Amino acid sequence: MSKKHRKTDERQKAGTTGVTNSPDRSAAAARRKAPSSSLWAAATSEIAGTAPALVAAHLPAPVAAADGIVTVAPGRRFDLAEVDANADGSLDKDWAKAALATERARIQALQEKLYAERQRSLLVVFQAIDTGGKDGTIRAVFEGVNPQGCSVASFKVPSIEERDHDFLWRYHQRTPARGMIGVFNRSHYEDVLVVRVKDLVPEPVWQARYGLINDFERLLTESGTHILKFFLHISKDEQKERLEARIADPEKHWKFDPADLVERKSWDAYQTAFSDALTRCSTPHAPWYVVPANRKWFRNLIIARTIADTLEAMDPRFPEAQAGVAEMTVPD
Ligand code: ADP
Repeated sequence: MSKKHRKTDERQKAGTTGVTNSPDRSAAAARRKAPSSSLWAAATSEIAGTAPALVAAHLPAPVAAADGIVTVAPGRRFDLAEVDANADGSLDKDWAKAALATERARIQALQEKLYAERQRSLLVVFQAIDTGGKDGTIRAVFEGVNPQGCSVASFKVPSIEERDHDFLWRYHQRTPARGMIGVFNRSHYEDVLVVRVKDLVPEPVWQARYGLINDFERLLTESGTHILKFFLHISKDEQKERLEARIADPEKHWKFDPADLVERKSWDAYQTAFSDALTRCSTPHAPWYVVPANRKWFRNLIIARTIADTLEAMDPRFPEAQAGVAEMTVPD
């Protein structure tokens, strides 16, 4: 057996691969990690300015993220520098790629039920610095999902019409309807990230937005939309390599935007803005999940697993059949 495969085999025997399919695992881990709403309410009144009254009956059961993901504890100051972007859970790459196929199959089967049930929805938010891997993650994780039950919204520089409305207007229009999985490629968080770094509005305006974002997400949650927020964390060296790869490969030239080189100069300002947004907008019903994202195969697996676990915890069901349908016959 090769060294690589022996490593995997030993981990699997020891049950330490970090990625298992035990049905009890997510429920038990969720109970362990469930954040306290009162802790969050007290903390947010201090750091975000609002402490919305949570209606416990409407909140979804919190789901523990897959091993390898760092959940930002509500109410605790978080710093992105705490997370190692290179982490790979000591998994074997080939094994992880095969495990991703299993997670995708779970997502596909559960999405069919969510769509048929048509009662709730799932919103999956992706944020990252330029080249962080949002597009690649969406492609890898949602491959094979019925396109009719899934929508992807990519948010760019706002249009004049969008700027003429409140900052949440354009995002609210793209939230998933009942039965749907909605994916946000960039999101309402841009309005406390790029907007802050580039000084596009006065500080009191973006400062007020953390609380407004928390209120917006609470509204969605209480309306039946479960929210998952993934921050893809890459290192500065990794970004350099990815930008260089785009310059070197003619087939990647279309992805290269010279403006990315200018943005790179604001790396530290973005890290600060990310850390603040994750600190102030991680709530019990919509926590931030920070994903070590230098290793694409590891990133894809742990995100897919967290989405599958969340859908499983939502427990969507096919609607009841009409009485007597099994005995009906189709006329010639
Ligand atoms: P992506 O990088 O997501 O693949 P683009 O290269 O078209 O897509 O970049 C989209 C740009 O839009 C980014 O530079 C991002 O910062 C910017 N953007 C997104 N939302 C806003 C916003 N609310 N205000 C200003 N700029 C924004």
